Amino acid sequence: MIPTVTLNNGDKMPIVGLGTWRAGPGKVSEAVKVAISEGYRHFDGAYIYRNEGEVAAGISAMIDQGVVKREDLFIVSKLWCTFHIPSLVKGACEKTLSDLKLDYLDLYLMHSPIGMKPGEELFPLDENNKVISDDSDFLDTWEAMEKLVDAGLVKAIGVSNFNKDQIEAILNKPGLKYKPATNQVECHPYLTQEKLINYCHSKGISVTAYSPLGSPDRPWASSDDPVLLEEPAIKAIAKKYNKSPAQVLIRFHIQRNVIVIAKSVTPHRIKENIQLFDFELSEDDMNSMLSLNRNWRGFKIETASEHKDYPLNTEY
Ligand code: NDP
Repeated sequence: MIPTVTLNNGDKMPIVGLGTWRAGPGKVSEAVKVAISEGYRHFDGAYIYRNEGEVAAGISAMIDQGVVKREDLFIVSKLWCTFHIPSLVKGACEKTLSDLKLDYLDLYLMHSPIGMKPGEELFPLDENNKVISDDSDFLDTWEAMEKLVDAGLVKAIGVSNFNKDQIEAILNKPGLKYKPATNQVECHPYLTQEKLINYCHSKGISVTAYSPLGSPDRPWASSDDPVLLEEPAIKAIAKKYNKSPAQVLIRFHIQRNVIVIAKSVTPHRIKENIQLFDFELSEDDMNSMLSLNRNWRGFKIETASEHKDYPLNTEY
């Protein structure tokens, strides 16, 4: 049994999940099946990952074989940025539900505060390579997401890539019905997010850490970027506990009560990345890992840096 974090709607979310971004065709169904066999119950997906149909195949196979029931699983998806106009929100959620072959999601996140021009193009860019915005206000998008809860399509709603001020804007929204259940953000020892985590936790909002291994396969990685899995301090800590660097990097979040979603399509890594509950990092080792912070981000979304809701132009 994987420990859970209790969300502000009362539901319990497994503290470890499997990420599915860049989990490609022919691999992700199998990865989901292996993960369920190894004890994963939480899966993190998104419309923009373009693989929800394949994730569904893995889930359905395991349900059909009687290995798990739908209610044992915690399925997360995300509303893409080109669907922020309130009238588009329900259709976007229904499309994801139909691709996933599910009646409901456990958690649906606004993928980013950045609303983009609706249409076929999922990253609409202008001639200067800048994101073309829509004219939505993410507070109205949030209100449309609240209606998904009332309609029974999703059990909880949350946000992703939101900064403190943007979360505060939701919390202060007149007539707010549901607070965000989580804020899913990049987080690892090079970007420890201490202020944002403390803020979210103080408001009863959980935090989910994405790219916990530093997202080594992100397509825009440059040879100058630091490589978390190769960080000597992490390797030394891993050696001490007879664990892998990945296990130490994932365990780090659990000890901060932060939900964590590493991605892998490799069976032995999927297994390794959930074998986390037979050791505990000492306070000194946790502090050493926190001291690696350099506010380095793998995800800067520079094409959106001039958008009115770009979240990274502020301290946290
Ligand atoms: P991660 O930090 O999870 O790294 C994934 C990479 O690490 C893959 O290349 C994987 O390879 C490799 N890997 C996995 N396990 C190990 C291991 N034990 N040892 C060595 N290498 C390993 O990156 P992601 O950016 O994918 O983040 C995780 C998830 O977070 C995403 O999949 C997605 O679900 C979510 N996310 C959300 C975002 C948002 O905007 N809300 C943005 C980015 C991610 P392989 O698969 O080949 O085994």
